Amino acid sequence: MSRILIIEDEPALLRALADSFRFESYEVLTAEDGETGYKLLKNHKPDLLVLDLMLPRMSGYDVCRKLRAEGIEIPILMLTARAEEADRVVGLDLGADDYVAKPFSLRELSARVRALLRRAQPPRTLPDELRFDDVAIDFRSWQATKRGRPLDLTRKEFQLLRLLASRAPEVVTRAELLDQVWGQHNYPTTRTVDTHVANLRVKLEHDPRHPRHLVTVHGVGYRWGP
Ligand code: CA
Repeated sequence: MSRILIIEDEPALLRALADSFRFESYEVLTAEDGETGYKLLKNHKPDLLVLDLMLPRMSGYDVCRKLRAEGIEIPILMLTARAEEADRVVGLDLGADDYVAKPFSLRELSARVRALLRRAQPPRTLPDELRFDDVAIDFRSWQATKRGRPLDLTRKEFQLLRLLASRAPEVVTRAELLDQVWGQHNYPTTRTVDTHVANLRVKLEHDPRHPRHLVTVHGVGYRWGP
């Protein structure tokens, strides 16, 4: 589970951002000025920083410049006011990875955060095949069998399974499953994930009501159990 630090001095916005990320199962740290934020970052080593530009005590620019000067590679997403185009350019020059202009939608922010976190992760190799119980799945040819007989899986089911298996034993959040399997610009709702998992259980699990492989982690997402 990724940890996000938000440094933002508008209390209402800070609260909204923190709530929204917590709802998506991130661990969230917050600070209302640059200096406190900088200290939090050094002590708690978050995976990503959401950084406002205009901050008391130490500006977003200064935080960014200082971190990069120290060789700290954390992904930084800057929050800028719409009018500050020159500021954005400076922000990117100072080593921010991306920015969103205020006012922004939480959904857009969240998609950008996921993209940054994904880029920061070392690439994982997806498995070419998966074998468990009497099931054999070949992800290269999109073919699956159970007890030697062909098993009918949809493309999305193959992709969902492949992603979960590649991340085991880690829990993958519904939001990330949607993002990776359905695409961040085209997602229905997290219900879609639940429906696909339920269908997969019926096809794969010995007892779909007590799944051993497609395991629910309540309030977070799913995990593959071999
Ligand atoms: Ca501000």
